[in-house]
Amino acid sequence: GLIMVAVRGSDPSASVRALLFNREHVHNDAIEGSVSVIVTLALAITPVALVFALPFVSLLQRSSRHAQLLAQSRVDGKTGLLNAVTWRRESSAEVARMARSGLPVSVALVDIDHFKRVNDLFGHLAGDEALQAVSAVLQSAVRETDLVGRFGGEEFSLLLAHADAGEAQAVVERIRERVAGLRVGAGSRDGETISLTVSIGVAALNAGSAGTDVSELLAAADSALYRAKGAGRDQVWVTTEHAITGASSPSMP
Ligand code: GH3
Ligand code: MG
Ligand code: MG
Repeated sequence: GLIMVAVRGSDPSASVRALLFNREHVHNDAIEGSVSVIVTLALAITPVALVFALPFVSLLQRSSRHAQLLAQSRVDGKTGLLNAVTWRRESSAEVARMARSGLPVSVALVDIDHFKRVNDLFGHLAGDEALQAVSAVLQSAVRETDLVGRFGGEEFSLLLAHADAGEAQAVVERIRERVAGLRVGAGSRDGETISLTVSIGVAALNAGSAGTDVSELLAAADSALYRAKGAGRDQVWVTTEHAITGASSPSMP
């Protein structure tokens, strides 16, 4: 009975069933239960054990809460992608690891074209749905080891591990095409749909290159994105240490 009261009180809006049988909760309960048994047994032998047991119990409590907070703070609430800080931290480590091993790695910046118009025409709620639809395309187009983040507003960042300029270009070209094929519901405007395009800048660090970190790759990807916007949008530009090129797109001559 006491447990049921505590469970209900911890989150009145959730169902008791969901709270009781959540895998993480069951796991935490099992650990806490085991520690309680050990502490009780130790206490039965000598009360002095309490002095040694308390720090362990307190540590256990804090570590399980810390893990929960950590998981919540990694992602962007609206899109479910990594937030900007987490993407940068994890990408930085990945770029360093790839460069050390002499492996290729690429960074891409994806920006939705004329997104302000989408909000102005269809409202911010429909705009949010469009952001979520683009996020889903990004997530489904990359491998599990790649990192997809919300860089800010209607801009996204990708880290493509093991991908040289050619491979990165193939991935983002697929993303550009899939986004152009999306039809997002226009909220209150029944029957209407929103079409979107994206411009993408890629910076590739090819195998064997040295001395580039994630900040430099981001700056180079940003320049490539700027060129893609200037050249008419809905296109991909790729930059390597040696060259910057506009890749295939419907609007390129
Ligand atoms: P460009 O092709 O040059 O990128 O034009 P743009 O209109 O996409 O770029 P601009 O930077 O002028 O506008 C970005 C817009 O994105 C403005 C802002 O209101 C909108 N935006 C940013 N974050 C969100 C969000 O979370 N939800 C919605 N609905 N809109 C957002
Ligand atoms: Mg934009
Ligand atoms: Mg932008």
